[in-house]
Formats: sequence, structure tokens, C-alpha cells
Amino acid sequence: MIYFDNASTTPIKEEVLDAMMPYLTEHFGNPSSNHFLGRAAKAAIEKAREQCAKALNCKPEEIYFTSGATESNQWLIANTELDRYYSTAIEHKSLLVPSFSSNGVIRVNENGIISVCDCYNRPFRKGDTLAVTLVNNELGVIQPIKELNILAAKKKINLHVDATQAVGKVKIDLQELSSVTTLSMSGHKIGAPKGVGLMFIRKCPCNAEFGTLLSGGRQERRMRAGTENVAGIVGLGMAMELAASRNIEKEANRISFVRDIIKEGLSKIPDVIFNSDCGQQLPYYISASFKGIESEALINRLSLRGVYISSGSACNSGSVFPSDVLKTVGVPDDYIYGTIRISLSEDNTREEAEKFLEIITEEIAKLRENLPSWKGSEADDSN
Ligand code: PMP
Repeated sequence: MIYFDNASTTPIKEEVLDAMMPYLTEHFGNPSSNHFLGRAAKAAIEKAREQCAKALNCKPEEIYFTSGATESNQWLIANTELDRYYSTAIEHKSLLVPSFSSNGVIRVNENGIISVCDCYNRPFRKGDTLAVTLVNNELGVIQPIKELNILAAKKKINLHVDATQAVGKVKIDLQELSSVTTLSMSGHKIGAPKGVGLMFIRKCPCNAEFGTLLSGGRQERRMRAGTENVAGIVGLGMAMELAASRNIEKEANRISFVRDIIKEGLSKIPDVIFNSDCGQQLPYYISASFKGIESEALINRLSLRGVYISSGSACNSGSVFPSDVLKTVGVPDDYIYGTIRISLSEDNTREEAEKFLEIITEEIAKLRENLPSWKGSEADDSN
């Protein structure tokens, strides 16, 4: 198997599963129960909260456990007046508010990088919210968070960061990023299970009114009621600890080497373009578009050969419409349907990259053979 779809999800790490196991078996108590089993479960949750806080350099009481980034992002939106909400057109879908005024759409450039200049020109009012996805899930580009942090302080606005694709790959220090008021993430992108994530809500006057997500019991300091996903939370705590101990730069250098092999091999296939191919793209991501093929057909063929990648983003796959993100960054119409996303992890190797190139080159050639309309760029040029 070659798994190059780590932006969709990752396998549970061994250390994470080991940490979770007792809470799936003998320590099965309800954290709200006032007996030994309950107290053990409660203590495990508080330990996980401390691990998460340490990883993000914030206070444990600023961490709230949720079912994942979608829930956390929607929590933000439920707390925001829509005419005071600003974002870009390339955010994760859980941050896009269909009815929000187009006045709130901040420009991005052809690589998908937010225009800080456009932000400075906006008539922000104190307490408005700007939401950004720190690392874009389709393109892998990283937003200029330090500049946005300065902007938020100057304009006195709330800054929400979706860090789902960034944790473990980008340094996130919430003391340094002191204007970030809320932050969301999901555990399953970093080796924790699916269905658990967190929301950071800074203890600051601007968040004093931040409202409850779910009412009912007293869990999560009454902000998010419901019996906790104890084992999942324990797994998230361990995954965050592991993510924080990574040598981000060293691993990025190693994975850049694997990424370069893949890109070099793909560029030998006729009629390919690379999207957001700029200095701001993390080395874990490749977004490539092939003229004249349908990425869904390619993904199915690769899957039959034990190779797993994604078409654009997993959240959009199955959809016959090209993703808004790809349209926004200007992928040409005759390439957009043939877009694939390769997302690497620290475990991927040169051998996998080489095998992958062999298989994808064959499968694209077969797909193009079957497409009478595809004549390649040379034929196009002669028209
Ligand atoms: N934000 C980003 C940037 C993501 O990549 C994802 C997952 N694709 C989400 C939010 C949503 O995460 P989940 O499905 O775990 O709620």
C-alpha cells in the first residue's frame, strides 16, 4: 500500500492507541461519576487538556474538547454576527458561511495566499471576526499568520485560526500569536482517532461573551455539554504531545526530498501543471492538474493498485463540480477536472515515491488512450 492521502486522515499512532486502550477497557468510567472509575477518567481528560495546552503554549482552561474542527469552526460561526464576519473564498467548507455578505470576502492571490493589504483596507470595526485556515487543505499553502496577528492587534478584531492541517507541520505558539482569539483542529490529521478535536478560546475580554455550544450537563465548564469521548480525548492529548516534540524543520527538509522526487516524475507526464507552486506551500502537499483526464477515474484506478491519493479535497470528492478553491486560484478549465492532491506524512519514503510514479504514469497513459478527445498539447498547438 502507498498512502499519500494524509491530509484526509492519518492512521492512529501506536503511542496514541496505547494511551487510549485503558480508557476503552478497564477505565471505562463516566468522568462525571464521583467514584474511582469516574475520577480516573476525569483525571485523564485533564491530563490531555494540559498536553494540548502545552503543545499550543496556552492555558489548559482555554482548551475545550469537541468532536473535531467542523464542530469548533461552527461554534465560532454561531458566536459571530454574519455581517461582522470576514474570511476568504478558499477556507475549509466548515468556515464558509453561505449567507455572509460578499463584502466580507478577503482577496487571495493566484497561489491562494490571503492579501494582508486587502485586510488593511477593510473598514473593520472593533470586535469583527477574521477567520483563516492556516494551512489550506487543498493546496497546502500557509497563510502569513504573523502579519495577520499584527493586523488583528492593530484593528482590534478577533482572529480565528483553523489549524487542522497545520498542527505538527508549522510552529503554533499562542503566546506569540497573542491576537489569535480562537483556534480549531481535529485529532485524526495527526495520528489521533476520528471524532475528537478541540477549540481554543482565549481568556480575554473579547471572548467574555463567547456562548455555549451545547447545553445540558456540566462538561467542558458548561460550554459543551455531553459525556466526554474519554479515550478519544486521551488519544488527542498524546498526539498533540507527539506533534509538539517533532523537529518541524528537519522533517520538512526530509519530506521535501520525497516531494521533489514526486514532482520531478510527474512533470515528465505531458500536460501537467502544479497549483500554488510557490515558496508558501508546505512540502507535505502537491496539488497537480492533468489536462484531459478526470481525477475521480484516476483515483479509482490507483486505488485498485493499492495507491491512495485524493482528488482536490476529500470533502469535495464525489462531487462533479470542480472545487471553489481551485477555481479561485485560477486552475484552467481544461485542467481543473484532472486535479489530484498528494499529501505526505513524515513516514513516506523515496521508495514509495518511485513506485508511485511508475504506477501513476501508467494509469494516466491508459486513461488518455481511452479518451479519443485527448490529443495532448502538441496536437493542440497544431490546431
Ligand atoms: N478544517 C480543515 C482545514 C480541514 O482540513 C478539515 C478536514 N478536512 C476540517 C476543518 C474538518 O475536520 P473534521 O472533518 O475532522 O471536522
